[in-house]
Amino acid sequence: MTQKKSSLEKASERLKEIDRDIFLFESITALLDWDHQTALPKQGVNARADQISQLSALVHQKVTEPEVGRLLEDLGASEELPGGSEELSSRERGLVRLYFREYTKQKKLPERWVREFSNSSAKGHAVWAEARQKDDFSLFAPSLKRIIALNCEKSTILGFEKHPYDPLLDEYEPGMTVQTVDRVFSRMKGDILRLLDRLKGPDGSYTGTSKLDDSFLYLKYPKGKQKQFGDLILRDMGFDFERGLAAESAHPFATKLGPNDVRIANRYGEVSAASSIFSTIHEGGHALYEMGSSQEDLGGSSLGTGTSLAMHESQSRMWENMIGRSRSFWEYYYPKFQEFFPDQTRDVSLDDMVLAVNKVQPSLIRVNADEVSYGLHIILRYELEKALIQGDLKTDDLPAVWNEKMKALLGIVPPSDADGVLQDVHWSEGMIGYFPTYALGNLMAAQLYAAMERDLGSVDAYALRGDLESIRSWLYAGIHKYGAVYTSSELLKRVTGEELNPSYFTDYLNTKYSTLF
Ligand code: ZN
Repeated sequence: MTQKKSSLEKASERLKEIDRDIFLFESITALLDWDHQTALPKQGVNARADQISQLSALVHQKVTEPEVGRLLEDLGASEELPGGSEELSSRERGLVRLYFREYTKQKKLPERWVREFSNSSAKGHAVWAEARQKDDFSLFAPSLKRIIALNCEKSTILGFEKHPYDPLLDEYEPGMTVQTVDRVFSRMKGDILRLLDRLKGPDGSYTGTSKLDDSFLYLKYPKGKQKQFGDLILRDMGFDFERGLAAESAHPFATKLGPNDVRIANRYGEVSAASSIFSTIHEGGHALYEMGSSQEDLGGSSLGTGTSLAMHESQSRMWENMIGRSRSFWEYYYPKFQEFFPDQTRDVSLDDMVLAVNKVQPSLIRVNADEVSYGLHIILRYELEKALIQGDLKTDDLPAVWNEKMKALLGIVPPSDADGVLQDVHWSEGMIGYFPTYALGNLMAAQLYAAMERDLGSVDAYALRGDLESIRSWLYAGIHKYGAVYTSSELLKRVTGEELNPSYFTDYLNTKYSTLF
């Protein structure tokens, strides 16, 4: 027994060492990517793609080393027991689970595929950007075909029982299947369409939009002041500026370059002032999760990060929509907003502000969508991706089918592909199976928020006095500090006592919008 325990201990220590090395390579990749997205000159793209694919190949090699296989065996990992021996601690089992999953998967994927995929994704971005700028889908089509073919190949190599999309979905949301997403999304689709219908007036415009004047949001707001106001909210949320920074880029995102280096990028000076505020709060939500998960003994390990994309998105969306767009939040922050921007808000009341940032109006662009119609944008992409992977839809037909679906779901047709099928960056970077996590994140956010209210009482009461710190502490204690030790479904169950249940999201939307309008 003691001998067995010590061999378990030894194997576990060795796996931790290997993980530390891999974590370093992953951090270096993150730094190259940060630079790619914030500063890289145009001509530097190809060399950067080679650098990143070289590192990916190295990580692939390290993860699939025969030693890792032997260690996982010593630790008792198997399909039935992916976390290995039950004598291990929960943290150790988390690491075993992570490596068992990666090892099994990557062992199947040949290095040729890994290099090709990484290279196509890195180069795809520039091709897509040009196609979007020139509003010409045909420029992007060859690159997209390659990416879809590589994803189909991946699905075949990894194998699936029910649906070829399952292995792709599992990449971004471990354990998630088409079966579950179909069930949850069909419920969500019905609920959203019913709510939109209720919010639609007899003249066809949406409740509030005809008499709602949000033009003040579209005045000129100086970039520097926007950033200052955003930083003020970030500080109140508990973003630690000694362990992170906020910069400017063309696309908002959050990333971690090391245990004490969490960065967010935002765009300031967009057409609407609301866009920079809410993308700051959104990315701030991601950053808090990353900061929280790399504290204590998880920093410097692959476990020191969010456990899944949907769980990550639950954090950003909860901050952005459920807290950041609440009336109580603005009761506290609107006077400050007015101090920053007295000219732009001269004749604007608190009520005007609250209604303006919660305006419901189905629109073309996913990232600018209101929180009611947002889910429909995701359902559209999910349905298209499934069809592409199943071979039911040809890449060349994508723009036309995109527009048909927009008409069917949101009632509008994009005037151009730039505002339609070319609007998102994801496919160009090889990511197919990613979009569903955004909507799953919304569903999880509402479920977690309900659990937070059971523990803390009215969350609005905290927002009302600007006490965002108490909200962050609850999220830290229940979710952040566990990093990736538990899977997202385990964590959701630990915190809320339930499996993923879409009714919380519907209840939240229905209550909020019947009170607002
Ligand atoms: Zn996000």
